[in-house]
Parts: sequence; structure tokens; C-alpha cells
Amino acid sequence: MSFVQIQCTRCKSVFRDRAGRLQDGYSRQCPSCEVVLFFAEDSQHPFVKRAMRNARKARKEQREAEAARRVAPEPRAARSFAGRGRSVDRED
Ligand SMILES: [Zn+2]
Repeated sequence: MSFVQIQCTRCKSVFRDRAGRLQDGYSRQCPSCEVVLFFAEDSQHPFVKRAMRNARKARKEQREAEAARRVAPEPRAARSFAGRGRSVDRED
């Protein structure tokens, strides 16, 4: 599970929370000043925006990593250079 950094909008202290939780409608307390931070997609606060953007990115990367593991257990060697040097069929 990946974590993202959150900066408190009141005391500016930085803490971490799971990327999976940090979604629209989520709220949590700052561990140092105990203010409740609300995370919404339409939030205007740059700290909240940044945290949500990072969480979205982390979730996406995690999803892709899981998908890659499932789909391709062995990575295919990139051998797509076969076409080079081969003469193109000419019609005339
Ligand atoms: Zn705080």
C-alpha cells in the first residue's frame, strides 16, 4: 500500500496517509493540531489539491503495477527492429 504526503492547511505540518483512502469526501484529523481536513475534488486549497493529486497518481501507479504483474509474468523482449533493412515491396 502506498502512502502520500499531506500538509496540514492550518499548522503546515506534514504527515502521511494511505493513497487508497484519500479520495473525494474523505476527512481526517491533523495529528499535530487536530484540525479536521476535508478532501474534496473541488477543493480550492493548494495543499488539499496536491495531496489528492498525489493520491490519484499513487493509486494509478499501483493499479498499473498490479495489472502488469497479472498480465505479463515474464516481460516480452522488445524485438521490434525486424522491419529494418527489409526492402519494401514496390508496386511499379
Ligand atoms: Zn495541523
